Amino acid sequence: MLGARNLRDTIEKSFDKIHDDLGLKIDKSNSDRIHAAEASTCTRLAYYDRRDPLKPTGEQKNLAMLSNGFRHALGNLHSEYKVDALSIEANADIIIAEEFVVRFEVVSELPEVPKPRHMLYLNACLFAFKKDEGFLIYVNGDGKSVEFSLSKNNRMFEEIVRRARVLSTLLKEGKTPIVEPSELCQRCRYYERCYAVREKEEKGGDLIAELFGKSKKN
Ligand code: SF4
Repeated sequence: MLGARNLRDTIEKSFDKIHDDLGLKIDKSNSDRIHAAEASTCTRLAYYDRRDPLKPTGEQKNLAMLSNGFRHALGNLHSEYKVDALSIEANADIIIAEEFVVRFEVVSELPEVPKPRHMLYLNACLFAFKKDEGFLIYVNGDGKSVEFSLSKNNRMFEEIVRRARVLSTLLKEGKTPIVEPSELCQRCRYYERCYAVREKEEKGGDLIAELFGKSKKN
């Protein structure tokens, strides 16, 4: 018979497997293939997820399983856009009337304006699926939703291509991208890597100034 500890381990392993199975299938060894989900989020986070990943927290895992399970139930269509040697991959949730790309985001609070990274992602889908119009729909746990529409936008797509190129180059060179402060940082599993050292450095700077009563330059 399974003890309480073994039962918990077994459940956790099952959850890990479901989480992995439902997650985006990204060929992490190929730096010429960048997913729009990577190019539209923090470049440093995407880099760490490929090169030196940390396991998601329980909360992150649950939210990802909820979102990804929702996407799989809808269709989770895949396509890609080629720019020279680079392939930008994208997954759309559904395409309505063979015309409108729809992307859902499961959130705890419905936003008043769409998040730029979600719009960048949806726009990348429009290019990958060769469509002109898309909808971004935020859904919360109460079943309430709010939607935003987007028309294909060349400048936004140039931005995602630029970001994908930067990530691709840094992956090939093995260079960690710079910190990109944003609202993502607070719940990011790499927060300690990005900010813990900096806080110590800043404290060190203050301490030197306090001890010697002069700037570091002097
Ligand atoms: S803490 Fe912020 S800057 Fe660092 S990887 Fe996460 S999102 Fe990016």
